[in-house]
Amino acid sequence: MSDLHVYLIAPNSLKFKQPLGLFIDNEWRPSSKGAGILTINPANEEEICTVHAADTKDVDMAVEAARRAFNGKWRALDTSVRGELLYKLASLVEQHADVLATIDAWDNGTRLFHSARFLSPSNLHSDYSFVTGKTFHAARDEVLGAITLLRYYAGWSDKIHGKVIDPNPDKLAYVMREPIGVCGAIIPWNFPLVNMVIKVAPALAAGNTLVVKVAEQTPLSALYFANLVKEAGIPAGVVNVLNGTGREVGSAIAAHADIDMITFTGSTPTGKQIMKSAASTLKRVTLETGGKSPMMVFPDADIEQAVRWGHRGIMSNQGQVCSATSRIFVHADIYETFVNQFKTEVEKISKVGDPFHSDTFQGPQVTRDQFDRVLSYMETGKREGARLVCGGKAYKNVGGKGFYVAPTVFADVTDSMTIVQDEVFGPFVVIAPFRDEAEAIERANSTVFGLGASIFTKDISRALKVSKRIQSGTIWINSSNDDDVRVPFGGYKQSGFGREMGEEGIEAFTITKSIHVNLNARL
Ligand code: ADP
Ligand code: MG
Repeated sequence: MSDLHVYLIAPNSLKFKQPLGLFIDNEWRPSSKGAGILTINPANEEEICTVHAADTKDVDMAVEAARRAFNGKWRALDTSVRGELLYKLASLVEQHADVLATIDAWDNGTRLFHSARFLSPSNLHSDYSFVTGKTFHAARDEVLGAITLLRYYAGWSDKIHGKVIDPNPDKLAYVMREPIGVCGAIIPWNFPLVNMVIKVAPALAAGNTLVVKVAEQTPLSALYFANLVKEAGIPAGVVNVLNGTGREVGSAIAAHADIDMITFTGSTPTGKQIMKSAASTLKRVTLETGGKSPMMVFPDADIEQAVRWGHRGIMSNQGQVCSATSRIFVHADIYETFVNQFKTEVEKISKVGDPFHSDTFQGPQVTRDQFDRVLSYMETGKREGARLVCGGKAYKNVGGKGFYVAPTVFADVTDSMTIVQDEVFGPFVVIAPFRDEAEAIERANSTVFGLGASIFTKDISRALKVSKRIQSGTIWINSSNDDDVRVPFGGYKQSGFGREMGEEGIEAFTITKSIHVNLNARL
């Protein structure tokens, strides 16, 4: 393993220079033990390139660089200048949007969206609609999301304030909101760019420095982004990006004595592991983990809209979304109608194919492991006696290669089934009927997770009443997964704790310091 860069030509003929090394102190370095990890194209199972893999020595080096930057240049900056640097980074991501989107379509199988909208994120909100086919993809597009996050948090940089407390004439106290220090960010593969930027942007705005570990399955877009960090003028050591395995590099970061906080997105079992490792030094931890988010459709709902949102809510991004609405409960009076219309929607919208083709809705699952996992849940569903409405098998595309599965719907499920309790993380949904509101609430709450929940009804008081009873960090009324950078997002129960996005996203990366000033009182 020697090359630190390679020139690649993507399936859409875009040519670009891909970094392959470890990004430490704004420099590209080789892996200290000379190890590499192959990254492959899930659409045809072919190798894209081999990326340097860090080990614990590289982690130490990255942490030292982050510590130096935290104590040095980054701390010394005026907060408005910090904001300017993030705005600059946002503009660079915008300029390189086509490359970044191409990389993740290639490395991750994310459906690529070609549109001028890439370049006009100010249109994001007017375009933000799940129900108009392609526009949905534009709005969900990671690159747009990354730009929006960077701009939103750039604006926060110089608006983070403490407070003054004035208890009596003899005393003045004030509370400062300080950065936590060096943060370890551990990133999953489902949204390789956005799930990194959702941590990097608020962490930097609040004045922290970072050691980022990307997912070993999808390292390329984060490494490309690292070059933009340097180009934006962000000082050396502020953002360090390492590729490596969870077992070696992830756990070394979680346990590292000189890292002050861990921010993790990924599976619930790994989240528990990280919390244990972090306990050795009592690091602050935020965890955004798994989900099995319910959708409840009441008899007065607009069924067509419920079907469309429900379909997008589970089938987008190949179902590889932590807050996907993967359990749908429908009132018995409209149950069969809903199931039939849902099947029609899958047949109409869920076009499976190459992520680079413009009419594709669903690309391949990210890896063979994930492909096998989804297929095995299909078999489990059949064994458990659920009614298979559609899918239930691998999808054989033209070339016979690639990790494609057929979008899958199981109906008539019961809550004790594995496919109703486990997070599948694929284009895989279960549907069941309910009789009344109390039953819907009870069943919605009956998993270990609590990330999102969707409620469809025209009766607003019912919607609000049910919202209060659902154990979930996010509720969508008459939609699904229409999150917003300005609104906090995170879990109840085993979906994790801590919040990302919104003001809470900044607070997560700050720590308060209380200062007591004695004005008069004498001992
Ligand atoms: P998946 O099983 O789908 O790969 P994970 O939750 O295991 O999901 O992965 C999310 C991130 O956590 C990845 O970057 C992965 O390398 C990392 N990771 C996996 N295991 C550990 C661990 N024991 N400690 C720290 N990080 C880990
Ligand atoms: Mg890959």
